[in-house]
Amino acid sequence: MKALVKFAPGEGNLDILDVDEPVCGPRQVKVEIAFCGVCGTDLHVMHDTFRNYPPVILGHEFAGTVVETGREVAGVAPGERVTVLGATAVTCGACRYCREGRFIFCPQRRGMGHGVNGAFARYVVVRPDQIYRIPDHFTLEEAAISEPFAAAVQAVTEVTQVRIGETALISGPGPIGLLCLKLLAAEGIRTIVAGAASDDLRLAAARDFGAALTVNAAQQDLAEAVREATGGTGVDVALECAGHPASVRACLDALRPMGRYTQVAICGREIQFPIDLLFYKQLTLSGSICYTARTWERMMHIYQQGRIRLHDLISVKLPITEWRTAFDLCGDRKALKVLMHP
Ligand SMILES: [Zn+2]
Ligand SMILES: [Zn+2]
Repeated sequence: MKALVKFAPGEGNLDILDVDEPVCGPRQVKVEIAFCGVCGTDLHVMHDTFRNYPPVILGHEFAGTVVETGREVAGVAPGERVTVLGATAVTCGACRYCREGRFIFCPQRRGMGHGVNGAFARYVVVRPDQIYRIPDHFTLEEAAISEPFAAAVQAVTEVTQVRIGETALISGPGPIGLLCLKLLAAEGIRTIVAGAASDDLRLAAARDFGAALTVNAAQQDLAEAVREATGGTGVDVALECAGHPASVRACLDALRPMGRYTQVAICGREIQFPIDLLFYKQLTLSGSICYTARTWERMMHIYQQGRIRLHDLISVKLPITEWRTAFDLCGDRKALKVLMHP
């Protein structure tokens, strides 16, 4: 089968190669991939700025159909439409974090798409516990956005625990920021979304997805706009989804005293901010990385409730052979979510 493979360490070293189709072991499930999302992490793997283990097939945000189950597997059947928690592909199962269900901190963890083979290909094999059945009304396209959506679910509902009646600020209208917005808007939380100069298209999407106010921080002072929108108080919670120093500072400034700040994006560098802001406003700072299996269960309940759909986040679908175009679009701020298919 054709697959997008990081074939050697270093910058680049990525191409479509012919590889063997994976064989379904007795305790495994074989999934035919329908769609797999392109994500910033894939670009980092390409540039070798995210840990990877070549040769490895990229792609970790996907959905597809079960085509084969191993003879020791029960409770999963061919034909079922599923999305897959790829991040638990390899864990030790014995460390403190594995025992607590916080697999993301397992020192031996390797996720699909960089640690082990991922889904920019026709087939993958996974363990049955990595599989989540999607409801009938949900398309395989939107189910392919489950992995980033799970990160939003953890950030909004588990880490920040946004409550009805609060006002939220999302700084950074990329896919994760917009997914956070979808959750908040569905709960009726008043949400301000801020972006940079080149984010016009994404800010327009934010308005479609229910943002109470969007602010282009290049044209408008964000702190000022937030003060105006909140009657001078500031927001209750801020989700930093841009990974930019100016955005971090803007979030801290926009928060009211006793407000909660959550770091959802990666800055990728050291940044400076006045830590006294934490003191004087008695802020709570948290980080949110990925999700747990419990988050994925919660996400499936959210899908079943039917109030949130994700298809309007998808702007382009391309075959994996056109990965260069797809990767360029993902790096570009114009597209929302780019999917590839075998
Ligand atoms: Zn991703
Ligand atoms: Zn472990």
